[in-house]
Amino acid sequence: MQENIQQACEFCFATIAEFNDIKLLGCERCYVIFYKALKPQLEAFHMAGEYVGKGAGSLTKALDLSTKKDVARAAEVDTDNTIISTRVRFARNISGYPFVHKLKGAEAASLIDKVYASAKEVLDNPQLILLNNITNKQKLGLASLNLISTKLLNQISSGGLILSKNKTISIMLNEEDHIRAQCILMGERVDEAFLMLDELDNILNKMLGFAFLDKLGFLTSCPTNLGTGLRVSVLLYLPHLTASGEILEIKRDVKEKGFAIRGVYGEGTKEIGAKYQLSNDTTLGLTEAEYINNLKRFTKQIVDAERETRLLNI
Ligand SMILES: [Zn+2]
Repeated sequence: MQENIQQACEFCFATIAEFNDIKLLGCERCYVIFYKALKPQLEAFHMAGEYVGKGAGSLTKALDLSTKKDVARAAEVDTDNTIISTRVRFARNISGYPFVHKLKGAEAASLIDKVYASAKEVLDNPQLILLNNITNKQKLGLASLNLISTKLLNQISSGGLILSKNKTISIMLNEEDHIRAQCILMGERVDEAFLMLDELDNILNKMLGFAFLDKLGFLTSCPTNLGTGLRVSVLLYLPHLTASGEILEIKRDVKEKGFAIRGVYGEGTKEIGAKYQLSNDTTLGLTEAEYINNLKRFTKQIVDAERETRLLNI
C-alpha cells in the first residue's frame, strides 16, 4: 500500500504527520491506510508479531483457573496485604465512529447512549454518570477510587462512566478510546476479574461491533494498546523492596519481559507509600491467557522477594 506524508485518511482526515505529532490515530481506517508507515512503530511498541488473542480463536480455556494452591496463597496474602488489588481492563472502539479525539459532540453523546443501552442488557441495573453533570469534588472522588482516570477527569467534552451496582465493573466512555472497561477486585483474583470482564466484552462486541482487523486485533486510538487491548495489573505493597532499593532492579527486569512497574495511578505517576502497579506493557503478540499467566508468575516472584527481604530485616 502506498502512502505519503500528505495523504489523509478519507474517513477522519488524519495524516501520518498528525499521528507522529500526537501519537493517536483518527479512526479504524487509518490502520489500513497508514499500515506501512506504522509497522516499524508497532514492532517497536510490542516487540513481537501478529495478533493471536481471542478474536483469532485463542479462547480463554487455557486459563489456569483458581486451583486450590492459588486459593490457599490468596488467603495467605490477605494476612500481609502485599497484593492489595487486581485490575483487568479492555480498551475498545466501536466500528463506524472516528476515535475519541475526532468525535463531534453529537457523535460522542450518541455513543454514550448506545453503550449504556447495551450495558443495561448485561449488567444488573448499572448507573450512568455524565462527567459534565457532576462536580469537581465528585470527579476527584471517582478518580481516587480508580474508577476514572486523570485523562477522563480533565476531559472537557462529553465523557461518561457506567458503574455496575457493586462498582466492581466500570466502563469509562470517551476517554482515550470509546470504551475502557475494567474490573477491580481486592486481593489477587486475576482469573476471576478477567472472566467477569471477558463475558461483558463478548456481549458488547456482539451488540456494538468493535473495530477489529485480523492481523492487528482490536483497534485502539493509540497503537500501544492495540491487539488484545488488555491490561492486567496488580497493586502491590512493597515497603521492604523499596527500602532496600531492590525495586529498581525488579523494574528493569520486568521491563525486559514486556511488563512495567508504575505508580498507583498508572502511566507517568509516581509510587505513593511503597505501592506499585505491576502490569503488562505490550498488548499484541501473546494471548490473553499468556498475559495473565505472566502477570501471575511475576507477581509471585516479586511477592516472594518482598517476603525474603522482610525476613532478612527482622
Ligand atoms: Zn482515519
